[in-house]
Amino acid sequence: MPLRFYNTLTQQTAEFAPQRDNTVRMYTCGPTVYDYAHIGNFRTFTFVDILRRWLRASGFALDHVMNITDVDDKIIRNAVASNQSLDDYTAHYIQAFRDDCALLRLETPEHVTPATEHIHEMAEAIERLTAGGHTYSSDGSIYFRIATFPEYGKLSHNDFSGIRAGARVDVDEYEKADARDFALWKAPKEGEVFWDEKIGRGRPGWHIECSVMAIQYLGETLDIHAGGVDLIFPHHENEIAQSESLTGKPFARFWLHAEFLMVEGQKMSKSLGNYFTLRDILGRGYAPEAVRYLLASVPYRKTLNFTFDGLQSAKTAIERLRNFKLRLETGAFAEGLNPALADRTAAAQAQFAAAMDEDLNTAEALASMFEYVRDVNTAMDAGDLRTENRAPALEFLARFDSIFAVLQPAVESGQMSDAEVEAQVQARNDAKKARNFALSDGIRQELLERGIILEDTKSGTRWKRKSS
Ligand code: AMP
Ligand code: ZN
Repeated sequence: MPLRFYNTLTQQTAEFAPQRDNTVRMYTCGPTVYDYAHIGNFRTFTFVDILRRWLRASGFALDHVMNITDVDDKIIRNAVASNQSLDDYTAHYIQAFRDDCALLRLETPEHVTPATEHIHEMAEAIERLTAGGHTYSSDGSIYFRIATFPEYGKLSHNDFSGIRAGARVDVDEYEKADARDFALWKAPKEGEVFWDEKIGRGRPGWHIECSVMAIQYLGETLDIHAGGVDLIFPHHENEIAQSESLTGKPFARFWLHAEFLMVEGQKMSKSLGNYFTLRDILGRGYAPEAVRYLLASVPYRKTLNFTFDGLQSAKTAIERLRNFKLRLETGAFAEGLNPALADRTAAAQAQFAAAMDEDLNTAEALASMFEYVRDVNTAMDAGDLRTENRAPALEFLARFDSIFAVLQPAVESGQMSDAEVEAQVQARNDAKKARNFALSDGIRQELLERGIILEDTKSGTRWKRKSS
């Protein structure tokens, strides 16, 4: 079965394969680190993780960039209010985001790129857009002139032919679906942080950051660009306008967008106040695997209503799978092979793969697994499972878990002594000094899974045990 994705750009489901050397070049919009991410945000990030894992299971290599928006209006406002530098303010939330990702078993993309480390490249891109006639300046800020990009609207399928040239907004977010020129570079207001670039003093707008980092790391045409549906307009529309004006090439071949996590019919969001952070939920005694399972269980293009009942069902489903695995591993079975059961295992694997291939239909994939669990449990009850049926069944479970990643329980903290933790913290610091961030992140993640939380402070790394 070919792998197929629904593409927001074409409004059609089409077969997917990367353009070059079997490697998927993918860009996904990351968090804005002005506060803790909520589990609505993590629905989108969990979708991205499932996407990554299924692309790899499909035989592709990955080159994936996720940005961290560490400068924007809200961050500047909050940093000023708390009397901290931008970096000090965001460091805490970046670390919290990484910790939450590790708890949810979200793989770290090949490149995680903070906006503030790429300001110069953004300023250069704005200079090139200006040379191409796509911008105008006003009061020290530089705006993209949407009228210079006739295809504006092709992603959101909005007709902007009637827009007024030169009408503009300064904020990163739009109040309503109203296309106006957007800021590429913002002049600093009194007391605000700024960068001194050839184009003037200021800071980049949100949209240019994604265009520039995507092209810098992945080239002019991405295979996949993904994010939540709220980013289709204006953010991704603006990314297309900037990128394609810079390169003259299509910016991304496939655009994938995840629907919202809802609470009682409304989008979970900071502004509505109807949100839970991962910490809130773990504090109520739920395991992160249950949250991961719940977020992954509904296909990404359907809205998912968050309830604690749903979380409880996720917990039960995971227990059922773990019990099944244990029974397979430890049961005493008669010698030989039951061919009917071997066929059943192969059919279940094929159904699972077919569901995932069809635009990541996780609900159907899970259904095929649970029907299989029911059938094999029945077979075990009847003494019909033979020793040679065991390994293929466990292989299917392992393949399932390479995507869903819920079978392994998080290890409790009690098992590590203080000295062991100290040694790991030291090893992580050494890795960081050597700029081996893959290793240092790995150590942090492993510690976290064992219930040890690290906090990097100016006076060194502190650690504590997770209380719940
Ligand atoms: P932000 O940190 O606000 O830039 O958002 C990070 C990601 O979370 C974006 O891809 C958003 O589209 C996504 N997002 C925000 N709210 C929700 C929600 N309620 N459900 C699913 N995804 C969301
Ligand atoms: Zn973006």
